Amino acid sequence: MNFDDLKLAPAIVQAVREHGYETPTPIQAEAIPAVLAGRDLLGGAQTGTGKTAAFTLPMLHRLSVGERAKNRFGGVAIRALVLTPTRELAAQVEESVRTYGKHLSLTSTVIFGGVGMNPQINAMKRGVDILVATPGRLLDLQQQGFLDLSGVQMLVLDEADRMLDMGFIHDVKKILALVPKEKQSLLFSATFSDEIRDLANNLLKDPLSIQVTPRNTTVQRITQVIHPVGRGKKKALLVHIINQHNWSQVLVFTRTKFGANNVAEFLTKNGIQAMALHGNK
Ligand code: AMP
Repeated sequence: MNFDDLKLAPAIVQAVREHGYETPTPIQAEAIPAVLAGRDLLGGAQTGTGKTAAFTLPMLHRLSVGERAKNRFGGVAIRALVLTPTRELAAQVEESVRTYGKHLSLTSTVIFGGVGMNPQINAMKRGVDILVATPGRLLDLQQQGFLDLSGVQMLVLDEADRMLDMGFIHDVKKILALVPKEKQSLLFSATFSDEIRDLANNLLKDPLSIQVTPRNTTVQRITQVIHPVGRGKKKALLVHIINQHNWSQVLVFTRTKFGANNVAEFLTKNGIQAMALHGNK
């Protein structure tokens, strides 16, 4: 499958191509058609699975074919709201919205605490199509009367488990009460506690459930290499590889405590500073 098969607007597919993506990740392949069709979604996915594009791409598509409305200040109504637990994630998500939406005429902004409020207040009055925010600051703006969420058609809770771990449950519930009941909702979480399930049950209507976090996956930034070598040559090979790449920070995992001591000793003898760490230490 490639991005052309997903029936996304050509302007979005072009931006995705320019960003260097060829094939959708598993969560993108599953989530994009469902979100395009207007379904709610329960995504079990961690960072590294491509979950951001999985909701951003169909969101951009739906907003680009929909109609803009006005907020009560006379500006652009917020049609999509993405809540994230941290500023870093909020900033990253909004960056993705800009990247994938660069050939569209949709607008977006990001709102989080710890920075001045005035620019955010002005942005809220002018309005945007897509708002990415952390819950606390969003409620601050609402309590001061600068927020109108009555035009929200799509709501995304990203990393919902972290949001609850950070104590945002009450804030999230308050925000849910501010958006229209009729909307499309997507919830992403790496883990599913009872609290997350409750939240999902209250928010999502007949959601498609996608679980793309198989055990022991690695993020895409990590390159894995296998060196088939006899047992007797493993340590010598390790020394060779470390020296060849001139690596200065290396973690070596061994099966046993004895093995850890043994490898550390061998490395030290061969001029590589090493220490063992295990339960007997
Ligand atoms: P995320 O899980 O959304 O944090 O994304 C993890 C990483 O995968 C990010 O660095 C993305 O830029 C990258 N990524 C997302 N979708 C794709 C794709 N279809 N092909 C290659 N890389 C991707």
